[in-house]
Amino acid sequence: MGDSEGGKKGDQPQHRKLFSRRKFMTTGALGTAGLLTGCDCAERLQSVETPDAGLARSNIKPRELKMVTTWPKNFPGLGQAAENLARFITEMSGGAMRVKLYAAGELVGAFDVFDAVSSGAADIYHAAEYYWTGRNQAYSFFTAVPFGMTASEIMGWTEFGGGQQLWDELAAGYNLKPFAAGNTGHQMGGWFRKELHSVEDLRGLKMRIPGMAGEVLRRAGGSPVTMPGSELYQSLQSGAIDATEWVGPWNDVAFGFYREAQFYYWPGFHEPGAQLGAGFNLDLWNDMSLQEKSIIENACRAANHLAIAQYAHYNGVSLKTLTEKYGVKLRQMPEDIMALFAEKTVEVLREIGEGDDLSKRIFESYRTALNEGIEWNSISDQAFLDARSRLFRAL
Ligand code: CA
Repeated sequence: MGDSEGGKKGDQPQHRKLFSRRKFMTTGALGTAGLLTGCDCAERLQSVETPDAGLARSNIKPRELKMVTTWPKNFPGLGQAAENLARFITEMSGGAMRVKLYAAGELVGAFDVFDAVSSGAADIYHAAEYYWTGRNQAYSFFTAVPFGMTASEIMGWTEFGGGQQLWDELAAGYNLKPFAAGNTGHQMGGWFRKELHSVEDLRGLKMRIPGMAGEVLRRAGGSPVTMPGSELYQSLQSGAIDATEWVGPWNDVAFGFYREAQFYYWPGFHEPGAQLGAGFNLDLWNDMSLQEKSIIENACRAANHLAIAQYAHYNGVSLKTLTEKYGVKLRQMPEDIMALFAEKTVEVLREIGEGDDLSKRIFESYRTALNEGIEWNSISDQAFLDARSRLFRAL
């Protein structure tokens, strides 16, 4: 709360300046509606390839939008979801909105994107919302929590279970409007230099595992470490850490963890479907036409869809590479370790549910949807996938 009020107050003059510039641009952008709806298919296709072709004929100034991200340049999966979103907004608007993408560090540092968009210094961020738990712990629920929702479950909660409205309320406190814009799907349990046999092996285990899951590991006897992806390989190599989680086979194979840690554990208890988020400056959002809002909302949905499809496909391909080409040893996380993680997760999540009024309402809404998901999935996806992998492996 202190963050939000302080940030808003300090940035008032800049907000006003940006607002008036945007007001001018919106008037211009609205004029493109006829061009967009009146053209035939051939023209539409052309405008996708060269988004500003229509605008060039109309003397209309496009809305220029700066998107800052927490991802390095050309980063598979996570970074591609941001690139897709930038491209979709530009293409779907026929260039009336032009998004320029900045990788982490190009305009602001990875974890400064939240403040940059909140203040209006940038227009959009693409990140994972659990990076903002320093502002409010409840942000975790909109990315992933241990033993929480899968990709399809969090989509269901966000779109139809009241999740989006609560997320809007949380983000509005920071002058932001959020959307889901990517999802990694289920993540792996991580890379371990030594095999795990029981909960005793967690004692003093130095593992890179961020956020709420790190707290769960700490309460289970381990020693969680937080560090950016760029430092993981070297830390594993030097022995500074004993284990690390990252994402899943597709993203992990590129980092080469298999060279330093032989054992690759499943399933990941901590990120069952990590949702990526796009945050828009709220003044900008409120200033947009219905058409622009619809383009953005559906560009985010398209980026979300493509990310899920991309991870679903490439994780399978990369798993095969890891096991067949690099001889990685897959191991199932021992049952007693999973049970201890589950027990500690309940403690940690309930503590968040005892926070401020909004955190309580987010926790209650999430809990209701998760419990319903557990019931339904136990007789649908979970039951089917279990039967398929046991009985139908030979196709
Ligand atoms: Ca992860």
